Amino acid sequence: TATVFPREAPRSAALFDRARAVTPGGVNSPVRAFRAVGGTPRFLTRGAGPLVTDADGREYVDLVNSWGALLHGHAEPTVVAAVREAASRGTTFGAPTTGELRLAEAITGRVPAVERVRLVGSGTEATMSAIRLARGATGRPVVVKFAGCYHGHVDALLASAGSGALTLGLPEQATEDTIVLPYNDLDAVRSTFERHGDRIACLITEAVPANMGVVPPRPGFNADLAALCREHGALFVVDEVITGFRSGPGGWCELEDVSPDLLTFGKAMGGGLPAAAFGGRAELMDRLAPDGPVYQAGTLSGNPLATAAGLAALRLADADFYARLDRVAAEVADAADAALTAAGVPHRVRRAGNLFSVFFTDADVPDHAAATAQDTDAYAVFFHAMLARGVYLPPSAFEAWFVSGALDAEALARVREALPAAAAAVSTH
Ligand code: PMP
Repeated sequence: TATVFPREAPRSAALFDRARAVTPGGVNSPVRAFRAVGGTPRFLTRGAGPLVTDADGREYVDLVNSWGALLHGHAEPTVVAAVREAASRGTTFGAPTTGELRLAEAITGRVPAVERVRLVGSGTEATMSAIRLARGATGRPVVVKFAGCYHGHVDALLASAGSGALTLGLPEQATEDTIVLPYNDLDAVRSTFERHGDRIACLITEAVPANMGVVPPRPGFNADLAALCREHGALFVVDEVITGFRSGPGGWCELEDVSPDLLTFGKAMGGGLPAAAFGGRAELMDRLAPDGPVYQAGTLSGNPLATAAGLAALRLADADFYARLDRVAAEVADAADAALTAAGVPHRVRRAGNLFSVFFTDADVPDHAAATAQDTDAYAVFFHAMLARGVYLPPSAFEAWFVSGALDAEALARVREALPAAAAAVSTH
């Protein structure tokens, strides 16, 4: 029978104590601290394909994959080789390089709505810069966003944000020009545009919200948003930091045939190194410095290691790859669904392509209010039962589960084996 790890993790616990002395909360990004599920965050020491190993020497099937940054799992050999090769030629120049040119060409070649793209260091920078550009281009102040959508820690976008901001209940700050609306509610968007349309610079949305759990857009919702924006002279900004190069070769909008004015990317496009981007129509993007007045810059933007990793990762992601990723995601989602159903646990699995999450609720989940009404204690029990059986799920009920192309039959079998006992643990919690 399979081993069950103890809840205590002594080496990680000792490292976490040390970390708390020198780093706020012991972590460099809040959700890593396991606040939403309790217990000791695992210090990870290595990764290989679908697996990660922690400081106590325990091995897990990884269903976080660095929050979506890893399309091909850990230490994918061609990605690692590309980084090594780039590093041997110099790690940063602060001058143009062919690596950033090739990555920009790969992005514009894959995403029809992107004619020009600017590379940055993080998803936060990408959305911050896109918002600045939207305000600069329209001369309008207001940003419309959806409750539960997370776009990084940009002041104007933290109002009712998802992800860690959701679990930690952050106060709203510096958000006076931000209007927050319920997701999937077109009437709310329409009446807001009717009232404030001439002051709205842009509406920003996640292509598929995946920071309050996965809440797929109703069919046609993104296209309707695009039309409303156009009608009122506001820009339609779609955040594809998660979905870009993960939901499909051209991201989610390409699958839906929706054309945003501006898009943001991150995670997958960096191949596991820090890289992100924003892009869109040439006429808009050319308003950026040095050609235009909207200032935006970055010392390490287009970093040679990150562009090499990103390009290697994108080259491995052909049509077959995405078909397989979608299939593997469906298998994991269906297995979780079946195990929870068999154990009589109220739940909803919501999936959009290869993005999915499990809500512990017996109600529909169209928006943030419904997502936050789920039983997060049930998720914590489920999370720890899976962790004890060697499956590393996102340490919060409000995050997507991420699969990678490295999730092979053996790893999948381990997930399947762990699920029934974890589902049973929830049913008796
Ligand atoms: N947008 C979305 C949709 C995200 O999921 C995230 C990060 N999870 C961000 C933006 C911010 O990206 P970063 O953490 O790289 O700043």
